[in-house]
Amino acid sequence: MSAGRGAEKALPAHTRQANRSLILRTLFHNDPMSRADLARATDLTRVSVSRIVDDLSAEGLVHESGPSPEGRVGKPSTLIALNPDSYHVVALDLSAHAEITGAIMNLDGDIVHSVSVPTDGARGAAVLVKVCALASALVKRSTVRVLGVGVGSPGVVGTDGVVREAVAFDWHDVDVAAAVAAVVPVPVHVANDANAAALAARTYGQPGVDNLALVRIGQGIGSGVIVGGVLVTGARFTAGEIGHVLVDEGGEVCRCGRRGCLEVVAAVPYIRQHLADAETSSDDVLAEAGRALGRVLAPVVAALGLEQVVLSGPLDIVAGVFLDETRAAIEHHSLAIVTDDFEIRVAVRGEDIVLLGGTALVIAEQLGIR
Ligand SMILES: [Zn+2]
Repeated sequence: MSAGRGAEKALPAHTRQANRSLILRTLFHNDPMSRADLARATDLTRVSVSRIVDDLSAEGLVHESGPSPEGRVGKPSTLIALNPDSYHVVALDLSAHAEITGAIMNLDGDIVHSVSVPTDGARGAAVLVKVCALASALVKRSTVRVLGVGVGSPGVVGTDGVVREAVAFDWHDVDVAAAVAAVVPVPVHVANDANAAALAARTYGQPGVDNLALVRIGQGIGSGVIVGGVLVTGARFTAGEIGHVLVDEGGEVCRCGRRGCLEVVAAVPYIRQHLADAETSSDDVLAEAGRALGRVLAPVVAALGLEQVVLSGPLDIVAGVFLDETRAAIEHHSLAIVTDDFEIRVAVRGEDIVLLGGTALVIAEQLGIR
């Protein structure tokens, strides 16, 4: 359940594991590939590649997908591809307050089966009971062996799978990973929902983007930040908690008790309320929200050298004026060289992004694919 260890002596078993992960990761992003292509892309010897591919093939993780296209001299080489249905993953999205959603996912992030369970206002241990029951039912239902369970939870989540605090469920130091692991026979990984979504944007989004922030515009505002390909958690696992950054001294009172937080300008319930009030045009409401978000993100983009910000939220809110004004504000508050190649876009499959995140979490931890 740890997110990564420090430098360890490269014992043979570790080297084998690292090389296996390297092959899987390379195939995940580039397959189908011949053994020779794999050797070139990974700097491993042909002999090592063949041995690892044979092992992966015996496990069913990869299969041969037929010869490469004609046109080359000599014997056509066989292409190797990852088998997305060699394992399935059970992913849980706990980020909507009214319901929890679970899904059986394949390694490509396709939903095989999904189900939502109403929380019926449950709090504390009662929510955990529902979470465990859903995880167990989905693992049992899967007709393909399950690689692991990945959970995206609201709140502050440690790398040990303990939810330090989730106000929505009245959870304080709740060991969600251990509770779920007690009812399923597979590894369990838990992350904050926005952090899981950031992993999804990295693993299932545009390939090769190693420095990005994923911002979730929902009941609140949270973000997950990836720098150098690694998720930033911060000393207290609160990295990315931008929702309560002050943007307006005299603004509305926020649920945290203070005034003028980013959330009271740009979170979904407030935007919907402001749109309903209709004293200003809807474009003005969305533009103001986008500008506030952009002002908060500008120093983050500049300090961390981010290449990309990905927005996830209701499309009628985040796509269009909101996104344009967020981009304009980031550019306005930054040096041109910071934002020259910078890109901001709406998440692909935003409504499934926490389920994709749970899947990304499991394949990263269990297979080294990221
Ligand atoms: Zn606040």
